[in-house]
Amino acid sequence: MYTLIIKESFDSAHFLKNYPGKCAKIHGHTWHIELEIEGEKLDEAGMLIDFGEVKEIIKKNLPDHEFLNKVLPFNPTAENLSKYFFITFQEIFSNKPFKIKSVTLWESNTCGCSYSIS
Ligand SMILES: [Zn+2]
Repeated sequence: MYTLIIKESFDSAHFLKNYPGKCAKIHGHTWHIELEIEGEKLDEAGMLIDFGEVKEIIKKNLPDHEFLNKVLPFNPTAENLSKYFFITFQEIFSNKPFKIKSVTLWESNTCGCSYSIS
């Protein structure tokens, strides 16, 4: 089994509901997202999928420069967002010869959340 890891980033603002700390106020992050995709069959070139093709699709579907509380119907915690991106990209890539293994979303250099189905 091959696992590819693709990283992208986007900038967006959010605040957390039902949370008493400073993140209850609106603020922004440069989010880093990592998709792990896995598959067994390589193409004639010896690739599971072209990195460039996957990166372009991921980039196109990230909420860059959006206000997450406005465009998403849930409290935009790192946990909820990583699950949301997992489901979103699972649907988007459903016709590809690989599956999404995990999505990791970093809201800072030291804090992130990984979501997978196991
Ligand atoms: Zn935040």
